This record gives sequence, structure tokens and C-alpha cells, in this order.
Amino acid sequence: MSEEKFLSDVIKDFYANHQVEVPNVDQREFGIGFFGKKIAKRHLSFSSQIELTSFLKNRVPFYISYSVACYEKPASTPMDAKGFLGADIVYEFDADDLKTDCKQDHDSWICTECGAKGKGSVEKCSKCGSSVQVEQWFCFVCLNETKKQVFRLLEFIENDLSLHEGISINFSGNAGYHIHLRNDSIKSLNAEARIELLDYLTTKDFDLQRHGFVESNKMFLCPMPNETHGWNKRLLTSLVDLIEKDNVEKIAAFGGVRNATVRDLLSNKELVLKNIKEKGILFSIPGRKNKQFWESLLQHLLEESALDIDRQTSADIRKIIRVPETIHGGSGLLAKNIPLEQLKEFNPLDETVVFPDTSVKVFISSSPKFYLKGNWFGPFTQEEAELPLYAAFYLIARKSASLVG
Ligand SMILES: [Zn+2]
Ligand SMILES: [Zn+2]
Repeated sequence: MSEEKFLSDVIKDFYANHQVEVPNVDQREFGIGFFGKKIAKRHLSFSSQIELTSFLKNRVPFYISYSVACYEKPASTPMDAKGFLGADIVYEFDADDLKTDCKQDHDSWICTECGAKGKGSVEKCSKCGSSVQVEQWFCFVCLNETKKQVFRLLEFIENDLSLHEGISINFSGNAGYHIHLRNDSIKSLNAEARIELLDYLTTKDFDLQRHGFVESNKMFLCPMPNETHGWNKRLLTSLVDLIEKDNVEKIAAFGGVRNATVRDLLSNKELVLKNIKEKGILFSIPGRKNKQFWESLLQHLLEESALDIDRQTSADIRKIIRVPETIHGGSGLLAKNIPLEQLKEFNPLDETVVFPDTSVKVFISSSPKFYLKGNWFGPFTQEEAELPLYAAFYLIARKSASLVG
């Protein structure tokens, strides 16, 4: 049996007893992909959930995505003929975008020019400087870091955007999370407003002066902390926190001054904090560099808490994104919906494994040690092993293993 047929049969068995629901299903454009190709066909549409479910059972796509937009005629081409009705916003966070130490353990690269290899995730070959191919794997550490980004976004959505409904979160099916914002106020946002929102979240072009951080009469002023919200509040909270914790090194590094200068000022910490909290006055450093110091410090604090969101994909109203509760054919994991109150405890490597554990014999070309559903596997190099079906699927789908016999 070919690998593709084997994987396809496994997915087929799963969809035989699985329901998938898409909001406004009849207004969405769908795209599907097969073994080794995430999007092979676009401009599909379904008139009902039943039609979609039966398509999954019969056609058994390895991947299925749907449009963030709703259309009058979702199957029409070109895009302009579809009749745009509005679009959700979907933010994506992926472990492969993060620079975590664990990648040194589980990722590896090979140079496309000279063939040099190494551990970790690098951009350029350390020998000849050419571009490299990176083989990415994922573990608790990087997936957890990704989840932290989701929580930070949720904090913005609730506090800054005052959105409390129409938020749904799902695992991407591979190494990340998707946050869907679906409600009428979001749907009607035009392209400009979507970019403005992105600018806000990523603090692009944030104007300190316009936000009340200004120099006046040789003093540097800030908004009154108890009257602030949004970014101003976040900025002042992190600043006060640095001062309260005597974080001299960080203040000095961010502000571009010597440690001794900061230490000197913080010797009267109570007064410094009182001035900020009660008068909206930030302390002055001696000399003429006060403005420069503050702007640099505040800018660094902003960058530190800005969200790392991919601008291209999140403002794109024509994009299609994995249908929640469907299989990711490159991993065999489910793009599972996660109720907000369960997100903290959610562990994708346990909870999105949906295939059975019947034993399958495979030949594994190479794999680091990896974890799925309570078990550790590998590392493997050029060897045969008997694995539970879900782990065999995972390796075969990644093209790290093939069937034996
Ligand atoms: Zn090279
Ligand atoms: Zn990792």
C-alpha cells in the first residue's frame, strides 16, 4: 500500500464519525489539499454543514481551509466576482516563528549549496553562507511559548478592544494557534481599519508625544497613571515595575545610560514613584540627555510588549485558513477548538491526537525524540520501529518515515 493511501484511509475512518461546523458555511470559499500539498484546489463551496461533512467523508482531503471572508457567491472566480460581504479577523501564532532554545535540540538544517549540516534553526549555512533547509520539530517548550502569545493577544482584545464575544481559539493542527474574531463589528471593518488595528497591536508608528510622553520645561512628563488605559497604561505599568524591582541594568540598557546614573536616581525610589503616580512627572537624569533617555527607554518598553503578529496574513481578507476540528494532513493532529477556560491547561501533544494506537511497522529515516499522547518516541536514525498508528502517521506525513511491508 502506498503511504498516501494508508494515511488517507486513516483520515477517512476518522471523518466517518466526526462532525465539522463552520459559521455561515454557505458563504465561505473552501480550499483543499492532498498528500504533500496544502492547497491544491480553491473556490469550492458548500450549501450546508451536511454537504461539507459528506464531502469530508467521501473526498477525504488531507487539508481543508475556509475563507475568513463571507461572499454572495463563494465559488465564483476571479475573487472580485464573489461579492464580498465582510470578513472575520484571524490572528495566527506559530512556534516556527519563535526563537526558543529548544530548537537547538530538535531542529536541524542542511545547506542546499555545500551540503553542510547542523543542529538548530539557522537562516544561513555556517560554512558557506548559502540558504539552508531547516527541518522543524515541536515540543512542549516552543508550543507553550506560542500559547503565551495567544494570552497576550487575548488581553489586548478584552482590554483595549473591549471585545468579549465572538472569539474562538483553535489549535492549528501543527505547531500553533488560530484566534478567530467573528462578530458584526469586526465583519464590517474595511481594509484600512484592519491595518490600523494591526498598527495598534504591533505599536507601529506609536507617537510618544501624542500619547502624553513629552518634555516640558526641562522635565519629562507622562500621563497620570490612574487615568490611563491601553498602551499608556501598559507602558507606565512596566516602567513602575522596573523601578519598584530596582532593575537598574535594564533601565540603563534601554535608556542608553550608565548603571551608576540609574542607581543614583533610584536611591530616592519612593520620591521617584510618588512623582510618577501623583504628578505625572518622570525623573530627570543629569545633563542634556533627558529627552533622549526617556524616548529610548519607553520605545524599548513598547517593543518588548508589542505583539509579534504577521502583518501580511492577518490583514489579508482573501486568505483561507484551516477549518477548526479538521485534520492537519502534515501531522495527523486535529485542529481542535479550545474553550477559552481550557486554554491554560491545554496541551496539544496530548489532546489533539485522535487516531488509534494500533501498531504499525515503519522505517524511519531520521527523527529527534518526540512526544505524543503520553509517550516519548525516538530518537531514530535509519531504523525500523513499531509505533502506534498516530505516531506512525505523524512521521509518515512529515516524510520522515515510510511503511514497511
Ligand atoms: Zn553551505
Ligand atoms: Zn521546542
